[in-house]
This record gives sequence, C-alpha cells and structure tokens, in this order.
Amino acid sequence: MTYTYKCNKCNNEFTIEKGMNEDIEIKCECGNTDVRRIYSVPKFKINCSGFCGKINK
Ligand SMILES: [Zn+2]
Repeated sequence: MTYTYKCNKCNNEFTIEKGMNEDIEIKCECGNTDVRRIYSVPKFKINCSGFCGKINK
C-alpha cells in the first residue's frame, strides 16, 4: 500500500509505502513528524462517462 502524506510544517507532500498492519513512524524529510494523511483518488480510476461529455459540449 502506498500512502500520501503532507507535512504540516513545510507543506511537503510525500508517499510512504507500508503494509496495512505495519506501524512505522511517518516522518517528513524536514524531520517533522506532524503530518497528515492525504486521500487521493488514483487517476486511472476516474470514470469519465457522462461527466466529460457535458464538458465537451
Ligand atoms: Zn516537512
């Protein structure tokens, strides 16, 4: 699993690869551990049907 986090200190976004039950410390490259999880939808999963048609017309 890959998780995306954002640092609350320097706003750096980074991804961490870890298992679901793996408990590792999430740390930004600036050394700050005060980070929050970002839930991003993978682009390939976005369903275009109906919605994109309306934009193009
Ligand atoms: Zn940071």
